[in-house]
Amino acid sequence: MDNNKYIVMACDCDPDRVQYGGYSYGEKRLIWNGVTKGIPAFLEGVCRLEEYYKCRIPFTWNVRVDDQIKQVFGNADWTIKEYFDIWDNLRKRGDSLCWHPHLWKWNIQNGYWYQEVKAEHWIEECLSSGYSAFKEIVQPEKVFVHAGWCFQNNFTMKILNELGVIADYSALPGMRDDGYRAGKAAFTNSFDWQITPHRPYFPSLNDYRRNAIDNEKAWKLLEIPSFTFKGRFLSSVISAVRNSKKLPGLFGGRLPGYVKLNPTLNPYVFRTLVKAFNKSQRNYVIVYFHADETLKKHSKIRSLENLICNIEILKDKIPGGVFVSFSELYSYLQIDNVNGIE
Ligand SMILES: [Zn+2]
Repeated sequence: MDNNKYIVMACDCDPDRVQYGGYSYGEKRLIWNGVTKGIPAFLEGVCRLEEYYKCRIPFTWNVRVDDQIKQVFGNADWTIKEYFDIWDNLRKRGDSLCWHPHLWKWNIQNGYWYQEVKAEHWIEECLSSGYSAFKEIVQPEKVFVHAGWCFQNNFTMKILNELGVIADYSALPGMRDDGYRAGKAAFTNSFDWQITPHRPYFPSLNDYRRNAIDNEKAWKLLEIPSFTFKGRFLSSVISAVRNSKKLPGLFGGRLPGYVKLNPTLNPYVFRTLVKAFNKSQRNYVIVYFHADETLKKHSKIRSLENLICNIEILKDKIPGGVFVSFSELYSYLQIDNVNGIE
């Protein structure tokens, strides 16, 4: 890698969540105003910034192709087909499309969606059919993943590796969440990257959260962690809020210590991320937001205006900062050869 500091801005293109005008987790319906209205409005602002700075500001769009989409619309690739013109225009800009599979499963008995992290047969089917559908319709040179809820475990890592996924960027070093309740549904939002290093690595077959040690074998799939940093005050506040919603029977909740900051947050808060990045020795930063956060009327905390302002902060305050898509970042990384790769 050269002396540039690479900045990857990514967006999870999910349906609108409840707090942004979406349907509840107890309904088999999904609405996409974030994708159809939020993204085009956002791009107008990005074009103005590109003209002002006279540089490209490419984005990475993580698109849903999975079992929930199939359950609601009949086909796993419905999102790509229905909004084909939107994705096509983004690719013409030089943006990347990555795969964003969620493990949403419908609880038939109680009628709600929840995060399925245990039923391996179902998870394998969800990921395998989603991968085939994504690959066939998007035809990417390489398939990159940003997982729903940033969740991975040893089993999902094995399946993604076997399918041929080249890299995943779900890791959030230092962070762990044991889940929380969303409304009345027993939905969890759990992930565990507590021991993960702040650098790309080939995950150990024994523990996806770290590289292989001693004689362990590693997956071929490269894990490229997003940027997190120690923010004692911020992480304590975030943990307290999330833990107030945690599921009964869970003891950990969100672990305080490390924090990631979303680029739709207030610029005064977001500046702490840029300061932490500049202090670190790291040469790339990945930050992401959600399509519904670009909708104007729903959130007092996150907004399109914040996002535009935070892009300016990234551009102005990171010396040597260059905006790249995730696939460009992957091609710039020089990863040492590792023994024992599966
Ligand atoms: Zn998502």
